[in-house]
Amino acid sequence: MTATKPAGNIDFIPNDPLAESADPMRVESAHREQVGQVARFRFRAGAPASNTYRPGTMEFLHWQSREAALDTLDAFAACAGPLEAWAPDVRGQLEVVPNAGDDLNASYDRRSLSFFVSRNADGAICSGASTDVVSHETGHAILDSLRPDLWNSALPEHAAFHEAFGDCMAILVALNDGETRLALLRQPGGLDAENFVESLAEELSDAVRRTLGPAHPASRPRHALNSFRWELPSRLPTTGGPDVLTGEVHSFARIFTGCFYDTLRNIFAAQSGRTSEDLGNAARIAGKLLIDGARSALERPRLFEEAGTAMLVADQAVNAGRNLAAIREAFDAHGIVLSVTPGIHRTLAFADLLHKLSLTRQVSLSGLHPMLDGVVAEAPVFVGGESGIGYSVIDVDSSETPAIEEEVRFFVQTLLAREAIGFGSEQMQNVTHTVRLVGAMRVLQRLRFQ
Ligand SMILES: [Zn+2]
Repeated sequence: MTATKPAGNIDFIPNDPLAESADPMRVESAHREQVGQVARFRFRAGAPASNTYRPGTMEFLHWQSREAALDTLDAFAACAGPLEAWAPDVRGQLEVVPNAGDDLNASYDRRSLSFFVSRNADGAICSGASTDVVSHETGHAILDSLRPDLWNSALPEHAAFHEAFGDCMAILVALNDGETRLALLRQPGGLDAENFVESLAEELSDAVRRTLGPAHPASRPRHALNSFRWELPSRLPTTGGPDVLTGEVHSFARIFTGCFYDTLRNIFAAQSGRTSEDLGNAARIAGKLLIDGARSALERPRLFEEAGTAMLVADQAVNAGRNLAAIREAFDAHGIVLSVTPGIHRTLAFADLLHKLSLTRQVSLSGLHPMLDGVVAEAPVFVGGESGIGYSVIDVDSSETPAIEEEVRFFVQTLLAREAIGFGSEQMQNVTHTVRLVGAMRVLQRLRFQ
């Protein structure tokens, strides 16, 4: 197979099987093989030839998940140029597994993007059939490439930023598609009303609701259009229903996803035109700011605020500061007040240096669970000086800021609440963490994002 292999037509769901859009499915020409110096996917050997397969079949699922994963790299490239490599620990190609077993889930574990098939009385729910879900998981892999240092951080806002970045990539994938933009602009209220682009993983959450009940945190789609306001995650409950803001990472992520979506809406609103091209342009500008912000955000516990600040700095550098108000107002609406000390510039190279210098602090987990006695979790310790980076902490009174220890222990409590620590059942898909022996220490480490 070479780059010149003709790409055949496939049936493709550009958003989500349950998305309330004009055309949930269409026929399109499949991506060709990847070429050049780019992060590569590996797809199943002996896969069926491209064709318009019936949804629900494994042939359809193969081409659907392949297309959605490649669309995510396209959306990234449209904003920031091609992603050249996965995180170092991926070691080469990232496998896409459309049917990794029976579950209502999807995951990224530095080896593969895995999707699952859950069969119930109503038929099969395939998480890999949703472009929302595939682009969210690919978003984890992309952020892991930009920021491998966040993988093992046991700070709640660091893990929540990973979840938010996945949801932001799903929105960027949707808005990188011309037909989707037209369908969205035709809807009453457009971006400013509840819509199928800001609503994520409709089918999977519907299946969770039917299987696990309406009180389950994932029983409704996550919405980027929301009014959640930032609070210290460790002051929030560890778990709760879908409409409640909790400190659990997927729930808390909605704050940052809201900041990003509102930034995008503000950029679009400030443009003179209202066409699909204008919307595509606004999405690429916002996406570039997000990606630059994610790259250079400092490893402080308040990563949402850090990423927002880094977006301001990126806008100054890339767009002569044209979108500063759009960014500030968006974060303001979610309770995050951004401030950059003028005159001192934070550069990507400087941020890179700080990331490399970063040390980790070990926090004892004794007392949280009998299996965690004598175990530690790790959080990055930020080593840059307050004055040297032209940044001032605002919003949270420092006397109110909890110690890193409190935040790490809270994060682990959210994991315990959803039985996400292995203790011998590491193959279960709800398990994201395990205890490993590192030297003489027993350390809580990440297995996967799910
Ligand atoms: Zn995720």
